[in-house]
Amino acid sequence: MATYGIDLGTTYSCVAYIDDTGRPAVAKNMVGEDTTPSVVYFETPDNVVVGRDAKNSAKLEPDLVVSLIKRQMGQDIELSFHGTTHTPESISALILSELARAATEFTGEPVREVVITVPAYFGVAEREATRNAGRIAGLDVLNVVPEPVAAALHYEVVTPAGERTILVYDLGGGTFDTTVIKVAGNEINVVCTDGDHHLGGVDWDERIVRHLLDSFLAEHPDSEVADNEDFLQELTIAAEEMKKALSSTTSRRHNMRFGGDTARVELTRERFEQITGELLERTLDITERTVATARDKGVASFDDVLLVGGATRMPAVAARIAERFGFETKLHDPDLAVAKGAARFALIESVKLHLPGEEASQSGQATAGKQATAASPAAVQRVADQLGITTEAVRELAKKKVRTVVPRAFGIKVVDSADPDLRRQKVAHILPPNTALPASPDTERFGTVEDNQTEIEIEIWEQAGATVSEELADNAAIGRGLINGMPPLPRNSPIDVTFTMNETGVLRVHAVELKSGKDLHIELQIQGLTEEQVEKARNAVARYTLSE
Ligand code: ADP
Ligand code: MG
Repeated sequence: MATYGIDLGTTYSCVAYIDDTGRPAVAKNMVGEDTTPSVVYFETPDNVVVGRDAKNSAKLEPDLVVSLIKRQMGQDIELSFHGTTHTPESISALILSELARAATEFTGEPVREVVITVPAYFGVAEREATRNAGRIAGLDVLNVVPEPVAAALHYEVVTPAGERTILVYDLGGGTFDTTVIKVAGNEINVVCTDGDHHLGGVDWDERIVRHLLDSFLAEHPDSEVADNEDFLQELTIAAEEMKKALSSTTSRRHNMRFGGDTARVELTRERFEQITGELLERTLDITERTVATARDKGVASFDDVLLVGGATRMPAVAARIAERFGFETKLHDPDLAVAKGAARFALIESVKLHLPGEEASQSGQATAGKQATAASPAAVQRVADQLGITTEAVRELAKKKVRTVVPRAFGIKVVDSADPDLRRQKVAHILPPNTALPASPDTERFGTVEDNQTEIEIEIWEQAGATVSEELADNAAIGRGLINGMPPLPRNSPIDVTFTMNETGVLRVHAVELKSGKDLHIELQIQGLTEEQVEKARNAVARYTLSE
């Protein structure tokens, strides 16, 4: 039985598996490429096209083509195609189905047990949506793993000896992430993470498109080229190709023709770096913020700086990182690293899942190596046979542990006591971002606002912006509960609120009004699909024929 790692990217996805020699390998898609555009084209009511052809239809059939769906993961939105309703989960499931189909074709082995990667920046709802996308696609999602952790596994900087601190700079097609990871023995801990999920290679492409259009219009000022979708579609595709070419050559030409007008534009790497320099600096500013956060957490230096994401193939990335921070970076298969690392991770999870007596096996959350090493030799042998690896490898893998952090701050809505009118509301954060999971921060005390209050509403909010802010607008309400039936209390009666979050990101809140002892327990229902909705979506997705 093979285990697969899937990098479900914003713009490109990739599947890897562990080959006969025990090394991760990429399962090429139906057109022989390593990565597949994460684009879905609802060609007819029954047929869906995923990948390059879908991407090439994007501007021509804008109402039937979906790109960048990952940016919507975890959001409660619906999209309709040919009269059928879809969610971000079901559209992602179509991508996953096609990836699985192609991988089965390539390896000759069915894809069932998988690990899917998510940006470290993803919150609880987005991670849950990703799991559900896998389930809708009929896959058994062993776990979702942060992309930088997978990348670190690929770069083999995770070694049992000593302690290492790693900075991962991931510039993909639609997201940017920087993450600091600490590896100590078999434990991988995410120290902190930051990013911008609206910044990626597509922004570089857009700058080239604008440059090409401007050049064309400079020669033909009366042309209506900017309104022509066919032309813009071609230009977008050409722009990405030019960008990729400029990673290995220093100049590239492009010929444009529209309504009898022609223009020939030459773009040098130097000019390209000028028109996109500001984008790169934005990633460096975020990197600086990450380095500062890590420093506050006691990280003085980095043993490795890893470049991940296809866009880090642009030479300016490593060059500017070296100039600004003095870091020497590692660059190796940056757009395949996450999938290959995920395949390794899938193997680890699979070993733990199939070893008996392993408590976490029901949830698919592997945690401990203790029980695993205590597993009987016969059990270890069976798992080794099942997965086609050696018994030593099974024992080694079973020891590995990955710990993650809370990606964002969580808190409750309170009235600002500094406001004389007691009108201003804000979020008081109780669980700071980058706390290691499982997390149980100190209990915090709040007070009732008015005299004779008999009930208290507890509203739980999650940080929505890139940094922690107490403004409601920078946070999102994710749950609420009520303590009621209290005797009328004087103003400022104490209420204690305790937050805990387990390893899989489930948030539990306990609030107690101290005078009456009345309390409230909330286990946060991640707003996602219900079991029934997943089942329904699975049937709907299974009905389509897929092609690439
Ligand atoms: P995702 O963010 O979807 O995981 P990838 O890591 O595969 O994406 O990165 C995709 C981005 O990398 C795209 O914007 C693509 O144009 C860009 N890219 C791929 N190869 C190169 C290259 N040789 N030079 C510059 N950019 C590249
Ligand atoms: Mg990626």
